[in-house]
Amino acid sequence: MEYDCIVIGRGPAGIQAAIYAVRAGLSVGVVGRDAGALAKTELIENYFGFENPISGAALMKAGQAQAARLGVTFYEEEVTSAGWGSAGLYVRFAETTLDAKTVIVATGMPRKKPAIAGIEQFEGNGVSYCAVCDAFFYKQKQVAVVGTGKYAVSEAAELAPFAGQITMLSNGRPFTEPLPDSIPLIEEKIAGISGDEDGRVKAVTFASGSQLMLDGLFIAEGTASALDFATKLGLDVQDNAISIDKQCCTNLPGIFACGDCTGGLLQIAKAVGEGAAAGMSAAAYVKELKGESLQQTQWH
Ligand SMILES: Cc1cc2nc3c(=O)[nH]c(=O)nc-3n(C[C@H](O)[C@H](O)[C@H](O)COP(=O)(O)OP(=O)(O)OC[C@H]3O[C@@H](n4cnc5c(N)ncnc54)[C@H](O)[C@@H]3O)c2cc1C
Repeated sequence: MEYDCIVIGRGPAGIQAAIYAVRAGLSVGVVGRDAGALAKTELIENYFGFENPISGAALMKAGQAQAARLGVTFYEEEVTSAGWGSAGLYVRFAETTLDAKTVIVATGMPRKKPAIAGIEQFEGNGVSYCAVCDAFFYKQKQVAVVGTGKYAVSEAAELAPFAGQITMLSNGRPFTEPLPDSIPLIEEKIAGISGDEDGRVKAVTFASGSQLMLDGLFIAEGTASALDFATKLGLDVQDNAISIDKQCCTNLPGIFACGDCTGGLLQIAKAVGEGAAAGMSAAAYVKELKGESLQQTQWH
């Protein structure tokens, strides 16, 4: 099977890229393991167009349905390799190999998850991986940040204008950065998280058995590399992010990148902005390959 464009990732960046590419006349396949960072996001209220907060799952479901209606084919699979074959680019998953004229990498930026018992159960219910997204919901509340370095300090700074009290938890490891006096540091290992009757975070319990009562726990353990494909494909990577220009072109012809995997602001608005640019760039690239001219009307 061959597509003009294969998008790896079905988060906001990948789906937006697919929408622009398919509307420009390309055949488009999207391969995504899951709905990405937003799958478990409780409420989004900083993205344009929704009067009331919307859940991440609802937003992603609507985006995928929109793309499917326009003719995008989805594969719910994990890509295991991508590269150049005899027929051009290819993307491989399970027993399948898809050929492509262009590939858009939109694989996101997975947050590191600390090994704390019960953490998954509270994701979206008091455990957050994004202070800039969720700080607003913790006005005057008791929160803690789990981390040991610069990223944890910057997440605490995002929370500071909103939260009542912030505590830093280094979870059994040394904390490496200076902290303001207003943020106490607890270095003890975290044994578990407990919840209230509604299933929301209520406290963390430390190895000694002592507890810290909390409304929210922000995980800031640094970002793991999301750049397996980038490395395999030979893409230029700086500071754990794929390097792109304003058109979302990478250093390699025919390969584009968009969304969290390119670094910068890790937010939906930026992901869809880059997704649009990547989709248009992929379309321009394919049209040139096919020797077709770009009609202005194709962008409407
Ligand atoms: C808890 C939380 C709350 C957030 N709240 C907000 C908010 O309120 N407002 C806001 O603007 N932003 C918010 N964000 C940030 C927002 O989710 C991201 O900026 C956005 O999802 C980035 O989109 P993306 O498409 O680049 O990546 P993602 O949404 O992460 O999607 C990445 C995609 O790549 C796929 N993928 C990765 N590797 C592979 C592979 N090997 N094979 C196949 N598929 C693969 C994943 O399955 C997924 O489909 C939040 C993030 C988190 C974690």
